[in-house]
Amino acid sequence: MTTLEPRIDDLPSTTPRLDLPTVAAAPPKVGRLVDQFERGLDAPICLTWELTYACNLACVHCLSSSGKRDPRELSTEQCKAIIDELQRMQVFYVNIGGGEPTVRPDFWELVDYAVDHQVGVKFSTNGLRISPEVAQRLAATDYVDVQISLDGATAEVNDAVRGPGSFDMAVRALQNLSDAGFADAKISVVVTRQNVTQLDEFKALADRFGATLRITRLRPSGRGADVWDELHPLPEQQKELYDWLVAHGDRVLTGDSFFHLSAFSSGGGSGLPGLNLCGAGRVVCLIDPVGDVYACPFAIHENFLAGNITETEGGFQEIWQRSDLFTELREPQSAGACNSCAHYDACRGGCMAAKFFTGLPLDGPDPECVQGYGEQLLAGERSKPTANKDHSRGTPLTLMTRPPSRDCDENPLAGFMPTTATGCSSSNCCS
Ligand code: SF4
Ligand code: SF4
Repeated sequence: MTTLEPRIDDLPSTTPRLDLPTVAAAPPKVGRLVDQFERGLDAPICLTWELTYACNLACVHCLSSSGKRDPRELSTEQCKAIIDELQRMQVFYVNIGGGEPTVRPDFWELVDYAVDHQVGVKFSTNGLRISPEVAQRLAATDYVDVQISLDGATAEVNDAVRGPGSFDMAVRALQNLSDAGFADAKISVVVTRQNVTQLDEFKALADRFGATLRITRLRPSGRGADVWDELHPLPEQQKELYDWLVAHGDRVLTGDSFFHLSAFSSGGGSGLPGLNLCGAGRVVCLIDPVGDVYACPFAIHENFLAGNITETEGGFQEIWQRSDLFTELREPQSAGACNSCAHYDACRGGCMAAKFFTGLPLDGPDPECVQGYGEQLLAGERSKPTANKDHSRGTPLTLMTRPPSRDCDENPLAGFMPTTATGCSSSNCCS
């Protein structure tokens, strides 16, 4: 799994232009930035593009339930046409992910095409293809940032979630980037109950490779819905995480993904930096491998599907600026049950996707509400939506509570060689 995240605070240091897109629909000339962002912008600030659902790993919490390539995946020419459109819209960078985006044969061609068209690239990878040669090539390229996914500061913790061998593969990629002189790679960590105690170790690991640590919130999206109960940090860990962020936040990126924790600040502590706003369909969206546009990378569900680029006259721009869904999301939203909460200004009711996939009302508390209201709701009756976008290869990795069901679950390279060391030649892998 590669993990991408709506973010506003960690634009790549190589981003060609840091001026924000112009504001759509008669914005106020003055006022808070957050108010302008709530009404939406002419172009997304944080555009995630999942190039493929194919993946060599089978992470238990994959937000996009990746594994198998979708046969309808956009062609090279279709991808280039989208990049042309992004350039016209002045989208100044894209977060590329998947699946494992580097398994696309045209991946480097598309990266080069984007950079040549003034669209900076930040791509997220499990490290599979970051060889010494590729690292050198990346080090020589402007406007490309690399984010290596790692969900444990030790192999034991990481591999329980991402699969055996995945820790070594990620560290090897970081070493190759460091040896090649690639400046400021990112280590991207999804914070879980098991790794939240390792935050200092993650930071030390990042320092060792001259990288920047980036931590994000576990959402119950994709396969994450199946393991969220076991993996999401416990209430007391949420407070520890908040305190750690307050102490270290200036040197750690979060993509604003922990804004539900800002409610702790109302107790006298300092708040977390960021907009503290759900940006779905306002400043954030996702393009998936077949050209479907969703409100957020963590909301891959038909309820949040705004349209398909190849089927919409006017393409991505039309969907972004005028689709019914995004227009609706830019309207003032009801705070619902959070209306009477003294912390609403700080946390805004939390994450839409987290509520949706745990079966909680969208206009109520976040399932990890720091006041405990989410827990109360989770204990009551609720109906979780069924996952309707699953690209898993057979049985995904389980939390190492039993042996892998197939070689493909064990070997990170399985399916990426004609015949693997394990003898796997399954036609059901990654293609
Ligand atoms: S639904 Fe909103 S708050 Fe949640 S991850 Fe997406 S943009 Fe962020
Ligand atoms: S009740 Fe709502 S606004 Fe208050 S802290 Fe919980 S999620 Fe945030």
